Amino acid sequence: MGATQEVLLKKWNDFLRTRGYTAAIAEICDNYPEQQSLYVPYPEILVYDEELAQDLLEKPARVIPAGETAILRLVPQDAVDHIQELGQKLEVNLRVKELPALLTRVEIRDLRLHHLNRFISIKGLVKNTVQVRPRLHIGAFRCLRCGHVTFEEQGRMEFREPTQCASCQKTAGTTRFRLSPEDSIFIDTQRIEVQESPEDLRGGEQPQRLTTYLEKEITGTINPGNKVILNGVLMATPPRNQRAHPTTFNIYLDVNGIELEEKDFEDVEITDEEVQRIKELARDPELNAKMTASIAPTIYGMKMEKEVLALQLFGGVPKVAPDGTRIRGDIHVLLVGDPGTAKSQILVYLAHLSPRGIYASGQAATKAGLTAAAVPDEMGDGRWKLEAGALVLADKGMACIDEIDKMEAEDRSSMHEAMAQQTISVAKAGITATLQARTSILAAANPKHGRFDKFKTIIEQIDLPLPLITRFDVIFPLADKPDPETDGALARHILKATLVAERIARARALGETGEIEGVEAIKPPIEPEFMRKYLAYARRNIFPTLTPEAMERIKDYFVMMRMSYSGEGVAITARQLESIVRIAEASARVRLADTVEESDAKRAIDILENYLRRVAMSEEGTIDIDIITTGVPRTRVEKQGKLYSMIQDAGPDGIPWDTLVLEAGGTGIERKELEMLLYNLKEEGTVYEPKAGIYRTTRA
Ligand code: ADP
Ligand code: MG
Repeated sequence: MGATQEVLLKKWNDFLRTRGYTAAIAEICDNYPEQQSLYVPYPEILVYDEELAQDLLEKPARVIPAGETAILRLVPQDAVDHIQELGQKLEVNLRVKELPALLTRVEIRDLRLHHLNRFISIKGLVKNTVQVRPRLHIGAFRCLRCGHVTFEEQGRMEFREPTQCASCQKTAGTTRFRLSPEDSIFIDTQRIEVQESPEDLRGGEQPQRLTTYLEKEITGTINPGNKVILNGVLMATPPRNQRAHPTTFNIYLDVNGIELEEKDFEDVEITDEEVQRIKELARDPELNAKMTASIAPTIYGMKMEKEVLALQLFGGVPKVAPDGTRIRGDIHVLLVGDPGTAKSQILVYLAHLSPRGIYASGQAATKAGLTAAAVPDEMGDGRWKLEAGALVLADKGMACIDEIDKMEAEDRSSMHEAMAQQTISVAKAGITATLQARTSILAAANPKHGRFDKFKTIIEQIDLPLPLITRFDVIFPLADKPDPETDGALARHILKATLVAERIARARALGETGEIEGVEAIKPPIEPEFMRKYLAYARRNIFPTLTPEAMERIKDYFVMMRMSYSGEGVAITARQLESIVRIAEASARVRLADTVEESDAKRAIDILENYLRRVAMSEEGTIDIDIITTGVPRTRVEKQGKLYSMIQDAGPDGIPWDTLVLEAGGTGIERKELEMLLYNLKEEGTVYEPKAGIYRTTRA
């Protein structure tokens, strides 16, 4: 049956006094109402009085208020009087912390009837937070007959009127009560929604959510994207905004305390044995090849892409200079390619592989989009809520954003902030917040017109603002070009993978056990489960620093590239230098090294070269960074300028096509190229065709 109220009070009183909480209580009174909670670790209660500790979990609705009453009884009378003089009513909250996960932790999806009204703890990501508002806590009701004020404590979900006047004893039927707000007591309240964290989901599951309510001084302390453990009592309530009398209730958590989870990847638990296995794998001479082969093994080819994706999972070292400048460690990668080049498939795979990985599409279904947003709260009481999108939810992890070119206009601006500063600011409807988005981004985009246009640079064909494009460390174009040799191998690979998948399906359905024939061909050498542990271990423990040799190598490359550039611009910028450092650090991290060696620097330079050659090669066969920073090669800018002057010189009558071919030919612009340049000028709107075959500039 448990203890009666008096027994509970005595137990709490004994506990608080013996454990020396009287001083803490006195301190709270001195600082009231800034301080209004007494925090007690659960293990301490358990050691002191096992029965009380157990009752606390099973009947929190009785045990916690008893504890709060016991606290009040330990408050010296002069303190009570003093607080009353200030026009406040002293209430000290008992907040229990450090609940043992074994006894109280419940996954959101596993919440059931038997958890109702029990003290539980849940863990998750904060999806959204509604603005903090006052709630009527103790209503002051004036009797309309005698004028006396009767106080009535309110429920969170329901309004309670007194049934009888405390003075004239008239009941609710024979008198009426009017709420007197100025004599009533209000408390801050806040609703937040928590969802399961990505790493607690098994592949492809949608995270489930739970509504929770915070009250008093703990309101307004957490943000969307925070990872939290919430301790509290699971309650049921009829759904609001319904006229009928529903019998299916909603559940919510009445939060008693918040425990913020700060550690990265803390959910990936690694045993001592696994640490041994991790260190062993780190010494494997085939380590890098195995890592690469463990990235989306069913996808054929794309060796370089997979190598970079493996490095992206490890990431570089985030740095803060003494002057406070931050340099991100996260590596951002963009895949831009023809349809059907397995971009989506790769993104889904990596979101699953990465600790705290999230897959989202640019055409996000929710209002929070990819970043974050202030949106009207659906409860319809005029409040707003701050809602986290994929980048915030993947804080300290990896956000895989498919079809990034299709993202909403609002997302574009905050995406820029996210990629540069790794934060997302929201300022709307009185909500101002800066949310953390320390996320590495793997994005995919299709070329502007569906397929690659060989007359244009890759960069021109990415439908994203240039400042965003330049924030990617590496951009890989994936062209779907028919090629008899690789097509055969591609088809063989896909068919082999399909065959194995068919065999697995049959074995599952028929309950057959034993090794599946051919499975090794598409099995990752490092299984995803272990890969996640390896990644978590490396990101938690390994912070490599540059060796002088590595620095020298990177510096030499930088200087060489800048010198080799003949134009007025530059071949590479400091931004590429930072990319090289990040990739080199990641390379060292893969083998759990504390130093970035020259070989890591070389590897990073090779990767950058490969990328620049693929997207920023000028016609002369040299790398032209203008292609990345402006989208077009500077030779083309120059030629386009020349052509424009030629047309302009012809005056308002314009210049005929044949003359233009001759004149352009004289400056080394060939006919084919002329067509392309002219096409671009017309598209820009600086040149038009007043009559077919005659060209003139829009402005004379
Ligand atoms: P995208 O997002 O680039 O349009 P998808 O990821 O939807 O392409 O891929 C289309 C299909 O083609 C997928 O089923 C994918 O497995 C297959 N595919 C494309 N390229 C390859 C490849 N290189 N190896 C294996 N399968 C591939
Ligand atoms: Mg796709």
